[in-house]
Amino acid sequence: MSATQEPSVCRPQPQRERRDVPSLVLVNTGDGKGKSTAAFGTIMRAVAREWPVGVVQFMKSGKWRVGEEAVARKLGVDWWTIGDGFTWESDDLDRSAGTAREAWAAAAEKLASGDYRLLVLDEITYPINYGWIAGDAVWQAIRERAEHTTVFCTGRNAPQPLIDLADTVTEMRKVKHAYESGVRARRGIDY
Ligand code: ATP
Ligand code: MG
Repeated sequence: MSATQEPSVCRPQPQRERRDVPSLVLVNTGDGKGKSTAAFGTIMRAVAREWPVGVVQFMKSGKWRVGEEAVARKLGVDWWTIGDGFTWESDDLDRSAGTAREAWAAAAEKLASGDYRLLVLDEITYPINYGWIAGDAVWQAIRERAEHTTVFCTGRNAPQPLIDLADTVTEMRKVKHAYESGVRARRGIDY
């Protein structure tokens, strides 16, 4: 392929000095599948480098997530998940809000602690968008996090201030999803 055909996004930028930063903020958002699983895939890379890794899960269904949680725990990942209350099927919003705030307290503590080189805040956009946790507190805690803690946030409809402060933002765009043609969530693929 000639240089003119090469997509510009793939071309190296020779003039630009590359620098190391102590940590990054990454966001996976959008309506397509793969936000959480890509963040969990990054955990494998971090574990391979013997990084201490933490996860805080802000949403949970009774049956979902157990697969990746069990494997991550085996890998030594510190996995914090809401016990009950704030679930996809929740019909008790007060209890859900309370549980979301509990999850945020755990996340805030982990962001500041310096105990992790990778911290995944899975589905954090939902309680922010529902108004259950204060976005301003989240942006501030991420900005003031321990220097070496890379933060990976997932969830649909990432709020603009989160996008603004992030270094890397990916929007998963749904082209098709099996769910729409009536296929139920699949063990081993969806949870
Ligand atoms: P995954 O956990 O598979 O990476 P995700 O984090 O991108 O998905 P969420 O919005 O967190 O997606 O959705 C949680 C669950 O819903 C997952 O089981 C996922 O497979 C499924 N899902 C993801 N995108 C869609 C979609 N567009 N329509 C229906 N279900 C979806
Ligand atoms: Mg997800």
